[in-house]
Amino acid sequence: MSGIREIAFARPWITDAELDAVVRVLGGDVLTHGPQAKAFEEEFSEFMGGDGHALLTSSGMAALHLAYWQLGIGPGDEVIVTSQTHVATVHAVEIVGATPVFVDCRQADGNIDPAQIEEAVTDRTRAIGLVHFVGIPCDMDSIMEIARRSDLLVIEDCALAVGARVRDIHVGLIGDAGIFSFYPVKHITTGDGGMFVTRHVELKDRVASARAFGVDRSFSERAIPGKYDVPTLGLNYRLSDINAAIGRQQLARIDEILQRRADNFRVLRAGLSDISDLHVIDTEAVDRVNSHYCLSAVLGASLANCRDEIVQRLRESGIGTSIYYPHPIPRLSYYAEKYGHDLGRVPQATTISDNSIALPVGPHLDESDMEYIATQLIRVMESTD
Ligand SMILES: *Cc1c(COP(=O)(O)O)cnc(C)c1O
Repeated sequence: MSGIREIAFARPWITDAELDAVVRVLGGDVLTHGPQAKAFEEEFSEFMGGDGHALLTSSGMAALHLAYWQLGIGPGDEVIVTSQTHVATVHAVEIVGATPVFVDCRQADGNIDPAQIEEAVTDRTRAIGLVHFVGIPCDMDSIMEIARRSDLLVIEDCALAVGARVRDIHVGLIGDAGIFSFYPVKHITTGDGGMFVTRHVELKDRVASARAFGVDRSFSERAIPGKYDVPTLGLNYRLSDINAAIGRQQLARIDEILQRRADNFRVLRAGLSDISDLHVIDTEAVDRVNSHYCLSAVLGASLANCRDEIVQRLRESGIGTSIYYPHPIPRLSYYAEKYGHDLGRVPQATTISDNSIALPVGPHLDESDMEYIATQLIRVMESTD
């Protein structure tokens, strides 16, 4: 065994191009909601392909809030949500006053289980709130079919799924609304930031207004400076041009970012294939493209009690890991106290929370790093009991 490496779980990839872009914006006249934001929106929707619309927001959470709010979901409405996700997926339902109805995921791909969606539909169900788990697309064919039959809206949390597609359609444009996050450790970053996307032009217009105080025209659209009206309510969920300029440079490298992630994932997965009782979470469908946020693996029964020890020993080998996600949402205090859920109803989500380890595959790492991680993990497992 050669020397110990330092392998961070995730690291933003910032180059001179980002630094130069920020300096150029700071030297100009418009610092927020200007040409950089507009160009980033256009480039992002072009990247997704199809005829989607993209609106830049101050965070992924802001985009989620706008989605539920502007789709008119609120008190008295039920939204069927996955239990295995970032809390933001469900907070967005709560914040508009609707009621989240938790269903389980499938252990194979970590995604919401369509069969359980069907069982959870009631007269009050208005929407399905899903996440593409660590970049693995959901079974959108089944989900959209259920949504059509029961007349439900579909909101896709694509925060870890830039580049994930079902056949040729980018996630976020399959349901009624989708959101992305540009928090530092996501596929691409703007510092903080997010993107709201939709196929519906009228929804896009409503969200654009609600994102900026509900004013009826943007600064650049005002014939007479200072003249505008406010026909609706709104917030300030815009993103600055400084942040947007960073995002444009990141997006320019997206093909390379996705390729490195895919290559790393493939090598790491192959390196782990000899470990019995370890299940790598991935898509099983050939027409669903994983965007490889990380490689999350579930420890089987013989190793399940050893997770903390394994994580600790990997750390001693310089390997950073994480857990996606450390609790099924109904187990988080806010939700447990409010809804008192029976966790026996979400056994798969609970197993992933309690028995999985997320390993890094980001573009800051190369294939030799993947071989190092696999070697270390095998060594640790052979001596763990
Ligand atoms: C990061 C993340 C969010 C929140 O995005 P922010 O930009 O941090 O608000 C929401 N959902 C998922 C799945 C995430 O990973």
